[in-house]
Amino acid sequence: MSAGEIESEFELNELRAAVRGYLDRHVAPLVEPHEATHTFPWEILPALREFGYVGGLVDPADGGDGISFTALAVLMEEAGRCWGSLRTTVNVMTIVPYVLAQTCNEDQKERFLRRLLDVSSRAWIAITESEAGSDAGAMRTRAVREGDSYRINGRKLYITNGASNDIGVVLASTDPARGSKGISAFLVDAAESPYEAIEMRHMSVRATNNCELIFDDVEVPAANLIGAEGEGLRVAMRAINVGRMNMAMGAVGIAEAALAIATDHVKERRQFGRPLAGFQLVQRLIVEAATQIEAARRLGLHAAATLDAGGQGRVECSMAKLFCAEACNSAVTNALQACGGAGLMEEMQIERMYRDVREASIPEGTSELQILNIGKELLGVSALR
Ligand SMILES: Cc1cc2nc3c(=O)[nH]c(=O)nc-3n(C[C@H](O)[C@H](O)[C@H](O)COP(=O)(O)OP(=O)(O)OC[C@H]3O[C@@H](n4cnc5c(N)ncnc54)[C@H](O)[C@@H]3O)c2cc1C
Repeated sequence: MSAGEIESEFELNELRAAVRGYLDRHVAPLVEPHEATHTFPWEILPALREFGYVGGLVDPADGGDGISFTALAVLMEEAGRCWGSLRTTVNVMTIVPYVLAQTCNEDQKERFLRRLLDVSSRAWIAITESEAGSDAGAMRTRAVREGDSYRINGRKLYITNGASNDIGVVLASTDPARGSKGISAFLVDAAESPYEAIEMRHMSVRATNNCELIFDDVEVPAANLIGAEGEGLRVAMRAINVGRMNMAMGAVGIAEAALAIATDHVKERRQFGRPLAGFQLVQRLIVEAATQIEAARRLGLHAAATLDAGGQGRVECSMAKLFCAEACNSAVTNALQACGGAGLMEEMQIERMYRDVREASIPEGTSELQILNIGKELLGVSALR
């Protein structure tokens, strides 16, 4: 699982300062207009690539940066601090190259990975279906081999970046009789295998596009099968723990931003003749939020350190995802409450953070599924099957 060498504390601080400075200057001003139009400013991606987003986890031999998981954790925290939609978008754009670098053959890397690393393409990964959410193994999308290609039929739901109409990885069953062991992963290029994407409006991370993808007899070259038939879930699971760590650290970043706004507000606003900050119950809102964020941040960084040490991080990343999602939701709720009515107004931005942090407990495995993952590891008994 190990990515690159672990940077020194000094280097990580420099990375944080550099990326924060860039995001504050160049991306923060884009948030409001893009939230209003539900669009993402894709033109920022080449500059973000320079910090380690997109190619960070890919080995330099494959054209990536080979940064550590801890550095990626810092990047995700800073992305969340700037904008929830940014965190979600760069997560997918970083995870897909990481998966492809580990699982694709040289021809596939040349045709797909290279386009992601030079930031000329956008990617999605499609697993979820209407009848297969937490239970991904129950998917019904079918891929049937016909000569030199596969025909794919089925519908995928809630696919981030799906509207990009570019490239992605779709999971489909090549052998339904084998259940989850009959699921395979395919590279899809919209230019050669057109599919339909229907955008779905959503509550959180509104500047990301989230789609239903419809595969109606879509022909995909057999050369686009990743690995062997039946290895689809293994391909997707390559990045599951990193994805959970990313989601955890993104939630921490969102909560930090909300707390900073609330802290300024309660120091400035006066009621009953004194600043709100002087009231014990307001202090409690702020202190509880700060404590939750600090604990969440440390658990997220611990998960990253576990991955850096070569561990799979199954328990650590699930714990981080579970705790960070729940604690940061609570922290942002406190921050909003401390701002009163102003907290509900768009101008203050906490209402957006409140919506965005809500995402953290659902994709990449819901909080309930994280509990069951951890329970299985700790107790040796699966509550699922
Ligand atoms: C913003 C966003 C982006 C997403 N992006 C992608 C993407 O890019 N690609 C992709 O493939 N998918 C994506 N998803 C889908 C996401 O992975 C699923 O929503 C998630 O896995 C949960 O599945 P579900 O929504 O079908 O919920 P369900 O599985 O129906 O769960 C509903 C509720 O039941 C609970 N539950 C389910 N099973 C159990 C159980 N055994 N025990 C206890 N409780 C249980 C869940 O915890 C949840 O509370 C995205 C979702 C969102 C919201």
